[in-house]
Amino acid sequence: MNCVYCEKKATTNDHIPPKGLFSKPYPENMITVPCCSDCNNLFSKDDQYFVTMLSLRDDVKNNPTIIANMPKIKRTFQKIEATGFTNKIRSGLHKRNIITHSGLLIPNMDAMYYDDKRILKVVDRILHGLIIGIFNDYDKKQTVIIPIERIKSTDLKGMNFVFNQLLPAVEKKDVFIVGNGDVFAFQVVRPANNTKSYLWKMYFYKVVVYLGIAIPEVIKTTNSVL
Ligand SMILES: [Zn+2]
Repeated sequence: MNCVYCEKKATTNDHIPPKGLFSKPYPENMITVPCCSDCNNLFSKDDQYFVTMLSLRDDVKNNPTIIANMPKIKRTFQKIEATGFTNKIRSGLHKRNIITHSGLLIPNMDAMYYDDKRILKVVDRILHGLIIGIFNDYDKKQTVIIPIERIKSTDLKGMNFVFNQLLPAVEKKDVFIVGNGDVFAFQVVRPANNTKSYLWKMYFYKVVVYLGIAIPEVIKTTNSVL
């Protein structure tokens, strides 16, 4: 078996999504794809960043897995070799006035800047892994993956097809749950059975939602989908 990322000989498995998001005992139905050790090593820092940034969010703090993993997350900060990584996160800490959904102003809240590109790189790999792990249908040359940050903050311009047609369709699909669904779940829809197009709606810790679209390159270049 070859590595699904670089096609070298696979010597290990890559967990989709990253194993670090979960706590022990690990769920029995975790999704894995064959991976070489070079790729696996390459991903580990980005995965750590992804796990840490998700875990420090205010809206996941009551999730049982987050509570179980928090000592581990805190140890990550204390490790000497993690200084660069820790500093990077610390330098993003700042105070901000926040307006709640009900319009209440909360001044001076702790907030964090984060490296969006790095987060999306991990989401992109999760999509890649899901397409292979669930459909075994990933074609590097034909498929482009567009991860979309949380739905609420997405710029909807030019995405009418996705939001008016695909999103209602994906939300009618069964929810695939890894473990008890506390950590990761997803829904997926294929707009047409004969294409390699998919819309994925992914739920991390139940509240952090990403959409991912995979469409064949030919559709992308003729611009008929987006
Ligand atoms: Zn590889």
